[in-house]
Amino acid sequence: MKKIEVVAAIIRKGDRILATQRGYGAWKDWWEFPGGKMEPGESPQEALAREIREELDAQIRIGRLLRTVEWDYPEFHLTMHCYLCTLAQEALHLNEHESARWLDAASLDAVRWLPADDQLLPLIRQELSFDLSREGIIAALESKDPAFNQALLEAGYQQKIASVGPVVYLRGLIEISNVCAKNCLYCGIRRGMDCPRYELSDGQVLQAAIMAAKRHYGSIVIQGGERKDRAFIDKITRLVKAVKAIDTGDDPPLGITLSLGEQPREVYEEWFAAGAHRYLLRIESSNPDLYRRIHPDDGLHSYDRRLQCLYDLKEIGYQAGTGAMIGMPFQTSADLADDLLFYQRFGAPMIGMGPYNPHPGSPLTLSGAPFPPDGERFMLGLKMIALLRLLMPDINIAAATALEVLDPRGREMGIMSGANVFMPNVTPAEEMVKYNLYDRKTILKDCPSAGKGENHICRNCVFPFCSLGDNLVQGKIVIGYGQWGDSKAAKHNKQCDIP
Ligand code: SF4
Repeated sequence: MKKIEVVAAIIRKGDRILATQRGYGAWKDWWEFPGGKMEPGESPQEALAREIREELDAQIRIGRLLRTVEWDYPEFHLTMHCYLCTLAQEALHLNEHESARWLDAASLDAVRWLPADDQLLPLIRQELSFDLSREGIIAALESKDPAFNQALLEAGYQQKIASVGPVVYLRGLIEISNVCAKNCLYCGIRRGMDCPRYELSDGQVLQAAIMAAKRHYGSIVIQGGERKDRAFIDKITRLVKAVKAIDTGDDPPLGITLSLGEQPREVYEEWFAAGAHRYLLRIESSNPDLYRRIHPDDGLHSYDRRLQCLYDLKEIGYQAGTGAMIGMPFQTSADLADDLLFYQRFGAPMIGMGPYNPHPGSPLTLSGAPFPPDGERFMLGLKMIALLRLLMPDINIAAATALEVLDPRGREMGIMSGANVFMPNVTPAEEMVKYNLYDRKTILKDCPSAGKGENHICRNCVFPFCSLGDNLVQGKIVIGYGQWGDSKAAKHNKQCDIP
């Protein structure tokens, strides 16, 4: 069958979108989104800008891809890339269409849409329901309306299905050490905390990685406290090389994400050259004042330095992910909205964020500074995922373990709100219990494997991912076995817009 590739503009003005009526051809009088065929050598954005100039005499600002629709017409197969746009100027002129209307969510069905365009209506209806301006995000985060909140979580899930599909990628999480040179005020393994310390041997790390490979997880994360001593740096270099050499059968060599804090640029380069290709460094808060309040002012904990590390990681070529805590003391809804907009400006291809969970012995907890109750922090965590998915449809978003501390189905609910990465913990259980950034008693206690000397938290379960529940069984969640699971956004390598 003949194939045609086109672009279409979903032009939004306030709470309405532009529909145009065809004035020619077999589908004359039907309604569509303006746009047209891509010419050879044109990017979708170039084609869209040209088509809208030709059809409407209009200049547009082109936003994110809402969805690519695949549709079989009787004579051809259509691939239609649909972008959210706004008008750069008010005036437009109908050069090819016989009519146009601005439709709001309630009146979308008032016209007879071309079949392919009709596929977009549920997503557009959702899109029009949520205001993704800074003020709109703040209002969404502060909403106490259960119906609104539920619709937002559902919109996050639907956007995920539309932009990245139902696949959830896996990362076998290896918590290599709870020794840390830093003293973050919220953390249970901070340098100043009196707690049992551990460091996994090379053999333990490799055993955990081999287990991840055997289970076809496709990728691992090596996470630990921040250390800059040469012995530790060499150990990571050695381990990254050794993990890449693990026999994974028909799967590609394991993908490696590192999350080992701030390091000199040359150390990041060394680990990248060894084979790590993703790095997670959470900004924790994009508000420098709040960052200061949750870290000691001792010269070791600098917001600017952390930001510089993120730039370095990106420049070196890592897929540089970041994230923040949600529901901390002193944090406002505006801070959270700014965190989401920070991720967007930074062009992060992956985000790991989760609710703040207090550690009983941390200075922040002991200070008595108030923070939202569990249920509120949990809902905030889910809403942040959904809003982020709407803002950045094709990135990877992790369903953080911190969600599970607040609800036994926390990670599953994160995935059903728009997250698409799940990190089964493959750290040896006897050490896992010591990696207490926050109080993890609930998740460790509830797991049938915990504390029994088993190597894997989910080893005894019928499904390896018991906490994904019925949605896994029903196919709403599909596991991406044996894949690195890089985000679509990573392939665009979006530049950072932060000055
Ligand atoms: S949050 Fe990370 S860097 Fe800060 S003290 Fe804890 S382990 Fe160290």
